[in-house]
Amino acid sequence: MTTAPHERSRNAVRNATGPSSALEQRLIELIKAHGPISVADYMSDALFHPNDGYYMSQSPIGARGDFTTAPEVSQIFGELIGLWLVQSWIDLGEPDAFTLVELGPGRGVLMRDALRAAKLSPAFLDAIDVQLVETSGRMRLEQQKRLKDAPVPLAWKDAFHDTNDGPILIIANELFDCLPIRQFEMTTDGWRERMVNVDDAGEGLVFSTAFAPPLTIEGAPDAAPEGAIYEWSEPAEQLAEEIAKRLADHPGRALIIDYAHVRAGLGDTLQSVKGHGAWPPLAAPGHADITAHVNFDRLIERAFDAGAAAYGPVAQGTLLDRLGLTMRVERLCAGKPQDIVKDIEAGAFRIAASSEMGELFKAICISSPDLPPAPGFDAP
Ligand code: SAH
Repeated sequence: MTTAPHERSRNAVRNATGPSSALEQRLIELIKAHGPISVADYMSDALFHPNDGYYMSQSPIGARGDFTTAPEVSQIFGELIGLWLVQSWIDLGEPDAFTLVELGPGRGVLMRDALRAAKLSPAFLDAIDVQLVETSGRMRLEQQKRLKDAPVPLAWKDAFHDTNDGPILIIANELFDCLPIRQFEMTTDGWRERMVNVDDAGEGLVFSTAFAPPLTIEGAPDAAPEGAIYEWSEPAEQLAEEIAKRLADHPGRALIIDYAHVRAGLGDTLQSVKGHGAWPPLAAPGHADITAHVNFDRLIERAFDAGAAAYGPVAQGTLLDRLGLTMRVERLCAGKPQDIVKDIEAGAFRIAASSEMGELFKAICISSPDLPPAPGFDAP
């Protein structure tokens, strides 16, 4: 069988050029038997399938992985977030006990650097209960290794709703971009869902367009040029709402940093990387990372609807500058040999310069409504 009858695959584009994977074979069988799957279901299996999902079976991050992230590039990233956390705790009235949650901690580098910087406030560390929310057992092991000398006890949780009530600070760097998105394509008859199908030879995965129009598409404009793509991540919006509901009921803040447009709009942002280079999103699922830009406008809307306050997006470079990047670079470089100074400066440039990660990455802060704006979000 090639194409399910309700599908129009004539405009499908063969996308798989890389080696196949066990997961690709299984998806081909599944689609042949039951019909095309949504981009969200594809992304979900490719990243989180219990055996073959990318985060479950590979070592994604770092020089020997497929991609790198800001905390991996420069220790200053985590350190400035550590200071942001201490100031936020002060803004909360220095509670004796509070929970620090990190969502999707990767290799644990951000938490390690943040806790080191936070040592300047022993009372903050005395009050803290750290909870790391991580779905991948493999990534948890990495985190446990890196955080074994952490100055405070740590606990791991499967999901945000398992974390403690009470005063709370939340951080998430590059977590929302791996939450599955659905894609919709504007056709002559309106929005139709973009699906993942098998090619005519039945040997590879291709994109196609579902014949049946979806009933509603949250937030999509009524009119758009033919071929335009609208993306919607229900899991990302639900998580933002869950965080906001918690912050409406309990004092705290969440700092969320990710790839995003300044003004989210139309466009296909599904992208895949392997070995630090671009990779076709449908090739060898489970062996490459897949992400999509985060629609911060929608997350902010959901946060307000749930009764929280929300600030941003602020460009990552601007946020880091406001949190004291320049001073931190100077402090770190003082008295160091020239080659180390060069490395520190190169790392800082990479995370903050607008030609590097400083503009493409952005931050929002979801907050309890009665708190002042968080550090870095207090200027227009
Ligand atoms: N924050 C890290 C890692 C980003 S990679 C850094 O900046 O380096 C994404 C991380 O989120 C991985 O650890 C992945 O296993 C985890 N993850 C993905 N989906 C998740 C979910 N729904 N809940 C918790 N963790 C998740």
